[in-house]
Amino acid sequence: MPELPEVETVRRMLADHIPGRRIANANVSRHRLRSETLAGLPHRLEGRAFAAPRRTGKFLFLDLDDGHTLLSHLGMSGRWLFAAASEDSLDAEMPHVHLRLEFADRSRLWYQDIRRFGMLRIVPLARLSDDPSVRLLGPDPLEHPPTPGSLLDAAHRSRVAVKTFLLDQRKLAGIGNIYASEILHRSRVDPRRPAGAVTPEEWSRIAPEITRVLGDAVSRMGTTFSTYRTIWNEPGQYGDQLLVYDRAGQPCRSCGAPVRRFVQAGRATFWCPDCQRRAATARKRPKA
Ligand SMILES: [Zn+2]
Repeated sequence: MPELPEVETVRRMLADHIPGRRIANANVSRHRLRSETLAGLPHRLEGRAFAAPRRTGKFLFLDLDDGHTLLSHLGMSGRWLFAAASEDSLDAEMPHVHLRLEFADRSRLWYQDIRRFGMLRIVPLARLSDDPSVRLLGPDPLEHPPTPGSLLDAAHRSRVAVKTFLLDQRKLAGIGNIYASEILHRSRVDPRRPAGAVTPEEWSRIAPEITRVLGDAVSRMGTTFSTYRTIWNEPGQYGDQLLVYDRAGQPCRSCGAPVRRFVQAGRATFWCPDCQRRAATARKRPKA
């Protein structure tokens, strides 16, 4: 599932290509995304031009020149695909395309979504912060990097496991299952610890890893397991940087012990029990 780094990669690429382009034609499929029909989109989009796209967490805001934004979430398998006028990379027979935009200069922007958990919706910019999908989102960790103190406050009295806490979009917007495991491994924190019991010292390791892991993943265009692609239909390149995610049974890259997988709140967690022992730093061997 696309997380912050994948969505930010898409945003940056769209920012290079769509601002100022005017939509000449818009066509939608007859399918629904989540529960929403797309039938109303074409007449709202035709004739409009895009401004610079923005993002909070996993949501993209493709602002239009009429005071509205096209709110987009990639869900499990959504992709924005772009082709310049001279390119024939978008094939009319391509399946699962739910929105086809053709610009006045004949370049094209398509939205493809195999599993249809994504979202496309027009929202007035003046009401965006009240939108039910957006209003509960916590801070975006690239825009507002978390500090040990902000995380300690956000987790105050929380009894959910720290891995599950990191996935809570109301606390931090954008971290998903891949990067939560990676952040906790690099911070050497046990993913099962109740978030409210994580110590200030542990948050001081977690906070910089959130920014570092997400930033590194953005610089490598995200991680592709199955469906995520950039707007040029390329896979992300962060997969070979993963230390624990999807590596169950393989040796930990730090200590050699087997990486473990277990299910937490319905989601797979990957970790190294040796490196992420509870209060690992407190158990350093005393000086001889
Ligand atoms: Zn290890």
